[in-house]
Amino acid sequence: MKTLVLIDNDPLTRALLAQCLSGGGWRVLECDTGDAGFDLVQEHRPNAVICDLRTPKGNGFKVCRRIREEPQLQKTRVVLTSVSRFGNDRDTALAVGADDYLVKPIMPSELLATLAKSEHSAEPAPSPPKVAKGPVVLRFWGVRGSIPTPGHETAAFGGNTSCVEMRVGDDVIILDAGSGIRGLGKALMRESKGEPMNIAMLVTHTHWDHIQGFPFFIPAYNPKVNVRILGYEGAVHGLRGALFEQMQSAFFPIGLNQMASHVTFEELEDMQFDLGAAKVRTIFSNHPGICLGYRLSTAKGDVVYMPDHEAYERHEVERQKTAGETSQPGLDYARSQDEKVIEFLRAADVMIADSQYDRVEYPTRLGWGHTCADDTVDLAIRAQVKQLFLFHHDPDHDDAKIEAMAAEGQARAKEQGSDLVVSAAREGGEFRLGS
Ligand SMILES: [Zn+2]
Ligand SMILES: [Zn+2]
Repeated sequence: MKTLVLIDNDPLTRALLAQCLSGGGWRVLECDTGDAGFDLVQEHRPNAVICDLRTPKGNGFKVCRRIREEPQLQKTRVVLTSVSRFGNDRDTALAVGADDYLVKPIMPSELLATLAKSEHSAEPAPSPPKVAKGPVVLRFWGVRGSIPTPGHETAAFGGNTSCVEMRVGDDVIILDAGSGIRGLGKALMRESKGEPMNIAMLVTHTHWDHIQGFPFFIPAYNPKVNVRILGYEGAVHGLRGALFEQMQSAFFPIGLNQMASHVTFEELEDMQFDLGAAKVRTIFSNHPGICLGYRLSTAKGDVVYMPDHEAYERHEVERQKTAGETSQPGLDYARSQDEKVIEFLRAADVMIADSQYDRVEYPTRLGWGHTCADDTVDLAIRAQVKQLFLFHHDPDHDDAKIEAMAAEGQARAKEQGSDLVVSAAREGGEFRLGS
């Protein structure tokens, strides 16, 4: 016999639901608080749980979240119930992992029907093609760091935050979802002409300038579009939560769960994986929280995307200066970390990298997780990168300043006898690898 734990503070509701469920062939275990209900769930591992949202000592959201955290309870169907008709409560219930949300009074037929549904009814979306033909194309939709900066002073390089489109044959890969993704979304919809589309999105981290455009990404509202969002281990929970929270009703009128498309989150456990026709390697950046850099290897060349990173050696040198200390082991360690980054970058065809500050600004922004442009250029030279795009431009840098930083970077490469090409990433700019 299938077992169900029924958690509801109202005895009359419990009695009515229990009667209906018994008639439907369920063994029902009743409880009137969230905490006691969760104990019953752990003890009996039921097939299903019905829990009212407004339950004392552990509300329905909390109970559901705790159930979803238990690996052995993944198959338990969770139905949250409430008198609340607010769409936001329903969205939150689904976001914390509930399979369904029923508004009271609950009809017996409705209850039995929802319990009969399969655990996860979402259809798997078609997988993207694996064969890449044609060039690898990079397009810059957002090149700014920290906050969008529209205005005539930034019009040439653009004011939108981080978003880069990468085409590997037919594969559409998006690097970060800053405000630039809005324009990209519109372009993709024009291109698709109503046909199904697969999109993969690699997000480096959940700082706002890398996710704030996602609620405005139109393809995610289209039922014919499949959006795979990939991130590393714990970061992906943070990502889902961050995307969900920025779309809660206090901040945005449409919830993440109202997006019509297949939006899936994939937790990566390895630092390397295949993404369509690209092979992806990752590295942890020197940046607050969990932040990744990506290297995408394709038949036409390798692209590294590392938008938020503070080079280790200068960080340590300036830190020691500020602290009035001298530590050779500290310096040696920092240099060894830079070496790891250089190995990661080795001989890449394109490097899109953090270069937010110049050498004068850097000491006043020490430990903010961003690099002095001199170091970005030096890392690229040492790694024998071919093309460097300075990226994550500071909101206080106008077009003239960015132009000057790119020219300085190019001169620096020449001085060192390097063939490195240095440019500043420009919104609307395109770069091709292969033909
Ligand atoms: Zn950033
Ligand atoms: Zn950041």
